[in-house]
Amino acid sequence: MVRRGGGRALTLLGGTCRKISVDPERCYGSGDCVYRLPSVFTVVDGFGAVLPGREEAEDEARVREAAEGCPSRAISVSG
Ligand code: SF4
Repeated sequence: MVRRGGGRALTLLGGTCRKISVDPERCYGSGDCVYRLPSVFTVVDGFGAVLPGREEAEDEARVREAAEGCPSRAISVSG
């Protein structure tokens, strides 16, 4: 696994304090999250991230579905 410093993970707070994060140590840039939910996720420099301004996910179920579909389990939703 390639380790990356600097913390690319974006941790954002949703309207109901739901925190969506992408662990840069686990993500390998498959792009599945973007395929599943392009309104929330993007790929930056080859790795998944949460789009700026999309911290208030309107559809938590779809965010959780994207998290469950992440092949490296890099996405977490908490709060
Ligand atoms: S689905 Fe998971 S591994 Fe793939 S880009 Fe998104 S966060 Fe990274």
